[in-house]
Amino acid sequence: MSPAQLAFDRDHLWHPYTSLVDPLPVYPVASADGFLIKLTDGRELIDGMSSWWSAIHGYNVPALNRAVQDQLAKMSHVMFGGLTHEPAVALGQRLVEITPQGLDRVFLADSGSVSVEVAMKMAVQYQHALGHRGRTTFLTVRGGYHGDTTGPMSVCDPVTGMHQLFAGFMPRHEFFDRPPGGYDAALDRDYVSGLEEFFHRHADRAAAFIVEPVVQGAGGMHFYSPRYLEEFRRLCDEYGLLLIFDEIATGFGRTGPLFVGADAGAGTGTERGGSRQPDIMTVGKALTGGYLTLAATLCSNRVAEVIGAGEASVLMHGPTFMANPLACAVAVASIDLLLGRDWPADIARIKAGLARHLRAAAQKPGVKDVRVLGGIGVVELHDPVDVASIQARFVAEGVWVRPFGRLVYIMPPYVISDAALELLCRAVVKYV
Ligand SMILES: *Cc1c(COP(=O)(O)O)cnc(C)c1O
Repeated sequence: MSPAQLAFDRDHLWHPYTSLVDPLPVYPVASADGFLIKLTDGRELIDGMSSWWSAIHGYNVPALNRAVQDQLAKMSHVMFGGLTHEPAVALGQRLVEITPQGLDRVFLADSGSVSVEVAMKMAVQYQHALGHRGRTTFLTVRGGYHGDTTGPMSVCDPVTGMHQLFAGFMPRHEFFDRPPGGYDAALDRDYVSGLEEFFHRHADRAAAFIVEPVVQGAGGMHFYSPRYLEEFRRLCDEYGLLLIFDEIATGFGRTGPLFVGADAGAGTGTERGGSRQPDIMTVGKALTGGYLTLAATLCSNRVAEVIGAGEASVLMHGPTFMANPLACAVAVASIDLLLGRDWPADIARIKAGLARHLRAAAQKPGVKDVRVLGGIGVVELHDPVDVASIQARFVAEGVWVRPFGRLVYIMPPYVISDAALELLCRAVVKYV
């Protein structure tokens, strides 16, 4: 890429969460293949980010390329109003089959944020249809991240989401503390009684409780026990709220199970199957293997039937690029590729590698905590990193890691080799 092109990028293109006045440096990419990102100057970087949880199979994947090309030869898009197509049906079938039991109705959205908007609108329409017109508030926990459009943003962590900046523009919802940390931690009874009180106080105005199950991603890479999901379920039932799981980051095996919500009876949870069953669930990010933007909102028959019997009778949403055939086709291929390989073995292997090679970071003075869950490794620091300088050191080391705040974290493609994973972890340990 020429200096002039880079200068144009710097002066005219917004990058995620950056300033156009004083932007962080960007690195021009020529191509990507497997777990390697190739820069235009010829350097190759081991990918530690899966392009934000999405590229689980790595890049330039033959089966996924073929799926897009085959679909492209038929049609890249047709409207979904009044028309349908094989890729949408095939994807719907797979999603109904592999997501937690009972989530049988599928809305195909064009990004994660939109799928959360749809989930929230479903919940409000559901309550409205039941005659609960005042139930328009959402309950959630602090530390969450659900996307950047207004609805999702309003249930993101109020501090890191800078809610004061949008006061008056954004709806206000109710926040309780996030569950205390540790995937294997025992249930904290005081926390649960606080949560009970929180539901008691706000439930009569609330449509739903929305949460990222077990892993809070962009809100702080916080892990908590699946036992709390059962408490969320119990309280939602008791107070007539819908339970929404946002599995946009956790879905497709990243934390260990294919979906956290489907993993009843695993971990330290009880054996009561279905007790952590959500009413509505969102998936995105890894849905297309990182190829194209696509997400889905799944809900139970009951939610769909109540909405259908309500005053509006229809779900009030329908994006222009709903169920885009190219995106659906590559999502089908990505799911088939995932299920066709021994992905639990990949996750177990990556988890073991992360645990072994990141452990040394815990000895460093700036490090507060090192934690690993499934294919996610997190090094939490005492102080925020200087992103520009640590990023430059990582690139010089031949790895792609993008820290935020006090968090240096990696979640590599499932196809990463053991040797590359070790190099990735060594670079992290070296520079934190
Ligand atoms: C990334 C993310 C979103 C938003 O998805 P986009 O495709 O970026 O709109 C929502 N929820 C969670 C948990 C996410 O990680």
